[in-house]
Amino acid sequence: MTSDAWQEIARFGRKVVSSGLTSSRFGNISICQDGRIFITATGSMLDELDSSTVVEVSLENPCEMDKIASIETCVHRAIYLNTGKMAIIHTHSPYAVVLSMVEMEKVEPIDSEGVLFLGEVPIIEGKLGTDMLAKAASLALKSHMACIARGHGVFAAGGTLMEAYTAACMVEHSSLVRYLVNCYPQGKNLYLNQHTFKSSG
Ligand SMILES: [Zn+2]
Repeated sequence: MTSDAWQEIARFGRKVVSSGLTSSRFGNISICQDGRIFITATGSMLDELDSSTVVEVSLENPCEMDKIASIETCVHRAIYLNTGKMAIIHTHSPYAVVLSMVEMEKVEPIDSEGVLFLGEVPIIEGKLGTDMLAKAASLALKSHMACIARGHGVFAAGGTLMEAYTAACMVEHSSLVRYLVNCYPQGKNLYLNQHTFKSSG
């Protein structure tokens, strides 16, 4: 384990928990470095990571260390093998999860930053740690910064953990704004009624 790998993962573990993107007990973080994956261990607390709770697994194939790595290791591996991404953050961000259960195929940001920098966020299917989820996530992340596993959580990816973290933050912010705007009585929605906003789509 290279010291900078677990320290970088631990730094972002503290950030995702302190910013409310996920609770300490849920979610996982990885980076791809020198042909290997460094990923949080199963059951680890994201705001208390150390060198013993970040494990190294093979990039190419399932390996013995997968047993103590995050249950979502197969999803991270598929993303690395099928996209150009080098860092992944998975959170159970509450508003993104809620929208994945009320929207059909994607969450479309309506806030200015989300429209400009994030773009649409696909909603994908597949149970925890399955090949179906791994395939869906790796396909979605070829052309998007993040996707949401329906009823489960966000997979955000980038060239660095900072990029993945930024995408994860934007997904939750855009989901929060979209949810709250949708809660507002449509008849009183004076501004959006005159513009192109749609309640779903
Ligand atoms: Zn999860």
